[in-house]
Formats: sequence, C-alpha cells, structure tokens
Amino acid sequence: MKVFSLVANTYLLDTPEGPLLVDSGLPGENRKLLGHLGDMKPAALLLTHHHLDHVGGARMLWERLRLPIYAHPLDIPFICGVQRRPPFPPIPWLGDWVANSPKPVPGEALRPVDEGALVMGWQVVHLPGHTPGQIGLYKQGVLIAADALRVGPRGPLISPAMVNHDTAEARRTAGKIARLDVQIIHVGHGPPTTPEAVRALALRLGV
Ligand SMILES: [Zn+2]
Ligand SMILES: [Zn+2]
Repeated sequence: MKVFSLVANTYLLDTPEGPLLVDSGLPGENRKLLGHLGDMKPAALLLTHHHLDHVGGARMLWERLRLPIYAHPLDIPFICGVQRRPPFPPIPWLGDWVANSPKPVPGEALRPVDEGALVMGWQVVHLPGHTPGQIGLYKQGVLIAADALRVGPRGPLISPAMVNHDTAEARRTAGKIARLDVQIIHVGHGPPTTPEAVRALALRLGV
C-alpha cells in the first residue's frame, strides 16, 4: 500500500487485478496526483465518499484511463452531478460553489458498491454518517476508513458536525469500526490509528 499525502490521504493498493486507487484529492491537486502516480496506471478508482477533497481527480482519471470508478449508491448522485452537494463549508453561495467544484463523473464510469461487495479483493464496508454513502475497504486486518474517522494529535475522532451529513450516525459508525476485527485503521485525514484507540473513542461516545 502506498499513501499519497494530498489534502486528504489517497491510497494506492496493489492487487492481483492491478493497482486500485482509493480517492483522488482536491480538484486543484490533479497535477500533484499524477506526479505521485508516475508511470503507474490505476486499474480502478474507488471513491470513499462524495466530498471534493476525495473526488477531485476522478473525472480527470476517467478521461485519461477510462477506468471503472466504484462508489456507494447513496453518494453516486452527488458524484455524477444529479444532486447538489450540501454547502462546504456551510456558508451561503461560496460553500455551495466550493462543495460542487469537482467536475461531475459520467454515470457510465460509476459502479455502485455496497456493504460486503468485493472490489479487487478488498471488502466494502458501509460507514455512513459523514456522508450517507461513505464507505471503507477491509482486507486481512487492514481497514481504510477514510473520513468515517480522522486522527488528530490526541488520537481518533469523528469529523466535526458541520461537515457531517448525520453526526449521530457518524457516532454509531465509530462503534461499528470499534467492533470490527482489525489491526490497523487508515483514515482520510491524519496518520493511521489502532483498534484500541477507536474502542476508547467508541466508549467515550457511548456507541
Ligand atoms: Zn476529507
Ligand atoms: Zn469528507
């Protein structure tokens, strides 16, 4: 697994079916993303959720590589531009423009995946709350939780309410992660964390 530090962590997973890219940075980070990829051509892209710091390179990669793009059915309407994203940050005008700045991904590129689906040997885990269709990937004790959690100087947290679709659901998702059989948890923002730290968070959140 390679990790590219864009505004949000972007993961390149080695699979027997080729490289699987997880998330794609901000729209303004396309050049940086291509620099990280070098000669590596991802066989597929998985978008953990519809936020602009994760889907920014999706349209550009599809135009170059015509690769399949996996995402959860609840976030696909935002990713392909059928539904407008909620303002981000939650302020009028600018927030709406910022949230919807990624170019829509054509529907024909998108492959819906839900809980339990296998994507190139990795299992999809539905981790709703931050967005309705936030997903993670699990394989052999490794979980990529993306923005279902973030990791600050004092350990894992859930994202702040103002950037969540449903914070109560995001808390319950932290409990779900705490009950998974994992050894390491990678997140969208911050360094990896441990199941012990997530169990302590779940206890504090009462989930
Ligand atoms: Zn993010
Ligand atoms: Zn996010």
